[in-house]
Amino acid sequence: MALLPIIKYPDPVLVTPTKEVLDITDEIIQLMDDMYETMIDGDGIGIAAPQVNKSLRIALVEIDEETGLFEMINPKIIKSSGKAIDVEGCLSFPEIYGTVERAETIVLQYFDRDGDAYEVEAEDYLARVFQHELEHLDGKLFTDKIIQKIKPEDLEDYMEENIT
Ligand SMILES: [Zn+2]
Repeated sequence: MALLPIIKYPDPVLVTPTKEVLDITDEIIQLMDDMYETMIDGDGIGIAAPQVNKSLRIALVEIDEETGLFEMINPKIIKSSGKAIDVEGCLSFPEIYGTVERAETIVLQYFDRDGDAYEVEAEDYLARVFQHELEHLDGKLFTDKIIQKIKPEDLEDYMEENIT
């Protein structure tokens, strides 16, 4: 595995819609392994291929050990319901945090590295991270949806205030 440079805004790859993966090659497997290492190294809970300069429909999400790792090839949201507002950050915007409105519950379809198809229902923060990463695959960025910006030094206070 190898650490990949994280692409930061305003690199054009971040606002370019990605291409479907047509064939799960050794290079794709390697890319997913490298994306995982890069995400963990950056203390991220999700990463999308454009963030490592690959314009492909691949995203990884791991919000905690209990929920586990989702390695998603050609993911798509097929159902969404409810609305929730919470704080987000992004590896491509190291200094920016803000509140964003997302669907509260989603149903997601994707393929894993073996080409097996999955359908997953997610809610709350997991649903939020899926939505954030999938928007990267469409070249969309969370900064366009921020309701209220939060300074990094205020993040902890804000999180505590909003836990209740
Ligand atoms: Zn992001």
